[in-house]
Amino acid sequence: MLEKRQPIAVETAVERVAACIKTLPIIEKPLEEADGDILAESVIADHDVPPFDRSPYDGYAIRAEDTAQASRTEPVRLKVVDKIGAGDVAKKAIEPGTAIRIMTGAALPKGADAIVKLELTREEGDAVWINRRFHSGDNLSLQGEDAKKGTPILDAGRPITPGVKAVLATFGYARVKVYKKPTVGVIATGSELLDIDEPLVPGKIRNSNAYMILSQIKKAGGIPLDLGRMADDFEQSYRAVKSGLDVADVLITTGGVSVGDFDYLPAIYKKLGAEVLFNKVAMRPGSVTTVARLGDQLLFGLSGNPSACFVGFELFAAPYIKGLQGNRLPYLTKMKAVLGHDFPKANPFTRFVRAKVTWEEGDRAIVRPVGLDKSNAVVSLAETNALMVLPGGTKGYEKGALVDILLLFGEGRGEFSIENLSGHRV
Ligand code: AMP
Ligand code: MG
Repeated sequence: MLEKRQPIAVETAVERVAACIKTLPIIEKPLEEADGDILAESVIADHDVPPFDRSPYDGYAIRAEDTAQASRTEPVRLKVVDKIGAGDVAKKAIEPGTAIRIMTGAALPKGADAIVKLELTREEGDAVWINRRFHSGDNLSLQGEDAKKGTPILDAGRPITPGVKAVLATFGYARVKVYKKPTVGVIATGSELLDIDEPLVPGKIRNSNAYMILSQIKKAGGIPLDLGRMADDFEQSYRAVKSGLDVADVLITTGGVSVGDFDYLPAIYKKLGAEVLFNKVAMRPGSVTTVARLGDQLLFGLSGNPSACFVGFELFAAPYIKGLQGNRLPYLTKMKAVLGHDFPKANPFTRFVRAKVTWEEGDRAIVRPVGLDKSNAVVSLAETNALMVLPGGTKGYEKGALVDILLLFGEGRGEFSIENLSGHRV
């Protein structure tokens, strides 16, 4: 008898996955190798930045007082007593009536309290002419202006971006503590699947999902592991899943998760003794998305339909993979955009429409569905840069409506918060 599946709300499904997140151990690695890793330690400034007062320009270090009477008609003449480049420290202090030629980044000489840009001076032998008044503190880069010693600078749980690297390098983190990345195995199921280099034959299609998911895993910071493709054969698929669990922290399958005669994943979960967290979500596409747990490991059973597979990964697998790495912001950034097309089709389930957001008409974010809006569409994925979230209901949506979108680019932001969008909390 066909098992009747109970759909659960997207939010509930997301919460069930989140409840399974246990961050992986912390490791240490050279800073050069830590791009995109998640920082596992907080950073507090252990010195002022910059660590000394310095010149932000090429020019002259002076005593502002000496220019009190300077004007275009009556410039002042200061004797240049030293010249220092970045990294040098002046051997002399500035006395009244003197200046020191200074380069960008060099420490402010004793006695100096202002910098005059080179362009505003006229050099003459061992002297410099200045034709306007400067005030104490003009053009200085002061010790600690960027960060004061003792200030918290970085929190653990954030991705190491180029900017974060600059901060870590500033504070001398040659090695940095990060969370281990999970190895995520991918198995594509389906007797209709061909390898990428095989010619098409009747009834068959190429396995595109595996390439897509392996790439999505990388984007989520996981280590992708291609475990090949399986025919729709229970024993073969069972063995592949079982041995996949031995080599990967997380296992993702595509296909075989619906209720067709050759959809074996539900039976495989049963035989493994895995607890099914959910096997139907009130969403389109990807309502058959299934997540099961075996011990500390999760198995994501994504639909074989490429668009459904893509969406299922982004909503459930990506946050989990990021969460294992201690990423505090594992969810896609949500924002509002104006619908650029009518979307007349009503659906009782929340839709995650593959869409493209652009900024037009004075920076308004406009979102439009891309290409074929069917769960088995693949070509439209290439243009997708956002998922448009259309809560379920009895009516469609009109051009001009303000809708939520989830951005597929940039860093994640905040909590999962498509507040009660589906209206189908079951
Ligand atoms: P399934 O989820 O196994 O019922 O498959 C749903 C649809 O997705 C079918 O049309 C499959 O041929 C297609 N499909 C399944 N797996 C893949 C894959 N790895 N790459 C591309 N399409 C697939
Ligand atoms: Mg199949």
